[in-house]
Amino acid sequence: MMTNKNEAIGCTVNNCTHHAQGENYCTLNKIQIGTHESNPTKIECTDCESFVNKAQ
Ligand code: SF4
Repeated sequence: MMTNKNEAIGCTVNNCTHHAQGENYCTLNKIQIGTHESNPTKIECTDCESFVNKAQ
């Protein structure tokens, strides 16, 4: 599948509909990062809020 990868946004979440698939990049021009914690202290506290499940 041909995609327009954004080389400024590396991503390995290939379950996301925005993933470039063949390469580990996002295809969006801009992503939104957020947190589900009130006081984020670790990597695991952060989320890509632009994620969309590819299976949906
Ligand atoms: S939207 Fe987020 S999770 Fe999805 S490919 Fe882009 S950076 Fe990765």
